[in-house]
Amino acid sequence: MRDKKNLLRRLWSNRTPLHHARPRAGISNWHQACSLIHMKFEDRPFIAIWETTQACDLVCKHCRAAARPQRDAGELCTREARVMLDDFAEAKVPLVILTGGDPAKRPDLFELIQYGSKIGLSMGLTPSATPLVTPTLLQELKDAGLQRLALSIDGLVPDVHDRFRGREGSFARTVQILETAYALNISTQVNTTLHAGTIPVLDKLSAFMSTLGISLWSLFTIVPTGRATESLMPSAEAIEDAYLQILHLSKNVPYAIKTTAGPHYRRLALEERKASGRDIVVGTRGKQAMWVNEGRGFLFVSHRGEVFPSGFLPVSCGNIREQSAIEIYRTHPTFQLLRDSDSLKGKCGKCTYRHVCGGARARAYAMTGDLMASDPVCSYIPPSFSGRVDVFQGQRGNHLQVIQPAARTE
Ligand code: SF4
Repeated sequence: MRDKKNLLRRLWSNRTPLHHARPRAGISNWHQACSLIHMKFEDRPFIAIWETTQACDLVCKHCRAAARPQRDAGELCTREARVMLDDFAEAKVPLVILTGGDPAKRPDLFELIQYGSKIGLSMGLTPSATPLVTPTLLQELKDAGLQRLALSIDGLVPDVHDRFRGREGSFARTVQILETAYALNISTQVNTTLHAGTIPVLDKLSAFMSTLGISLWSLFTIVPTGRATESLMPSAEAIEDAYLQILHLSKNVPYAIKTTAGPHYRRLALEERKASGRDIVVGTRGKQAMWVNEGRGFLFVSHRGEVFPSGFLPVSCGNIREQSAIEIYRTHPTFQLLRDSDSLKGKCGKCTYRHVCGGARARAYAMTGDLMASDPVCSYIPPSFSGRVDVFQGQRGNHLQVIQPAARTE
């Protein structure tokens, strides 16, 4: 117990807020890549994610990959990975992320980051916080051209995070890796899952992020796939409240904030913009800022080379061992359907925000079996929708209770 108290004291004391920290180098390419958000998503994804391996030494409660300690003999080899990276470079994909499992389980990690960087890709990495991520490895990856390192923090205190990640000491190691990356001038990102252990302390977590010198805080709304079940999911109402809080926090922090698998955060941002009297452009294609969703600006390649619209959407559209990932992205009917907001069903199909939000297609699929159904954790009911709506109520109540449309103005 005393050890834990000491650890907390050490973690919280003497932390320097980012605005006192020196400016970061090495992130300009990443930000430059992100500024291409207005690109046409029919031609190429904005971001391509490759699950390098499903091997991992953590046992996270919500793991999409349901990872295990050993590597799979069917993983893409280095040569196949290089061909895939060539494909991404030729299509000028702005961001490429190597994820897992734990990519640090692959002995060719350095070579892959170096190769991707050499052919002009902005390479990001999401390793697991384990002893495999040493200061030496971080230095090597930086030298190889790594642009962004992302780690997860899923609790304000070690106990909560470690229980979520399934390994004691994971919180302290994560902070240690982020501090080392900061010292090496590597741009960092923290991913946080919205769950019962994080939603009540979002403001404190946000303050903690300020002490870590991160560039981006990404808040993930659970999709019940892999080891994640609906029992971990907050209600639609709790998610809405969390997004409002995040929106408020985003104005006062020295780093960017985004949501993952939470596109209806964009609706709240736009509603707030409208309330403050600023112009918003919604529903006029080609003019509005394009937003990334499953299959729309987003592509996922599994450890065996299968191409999916997202890692949380297990609908295989082909394999890079037989066809180019970019070609699959451009031509496969599932990708094309996902890019067609007018094919959305239920209240998402009637929503004026469908072109900028569209709901999380992965969650709709996981919870209803229909790719184009409404996102069950969005509590918004468009005024023009007159049907019946299933909104996730959390595990305490009747979680797919039918709610009648409420009168609400847009
Ligand atoms: S109803 Fe659907 S499209 Fe509209 S804000 Fe909610 S999730 Fe987004």
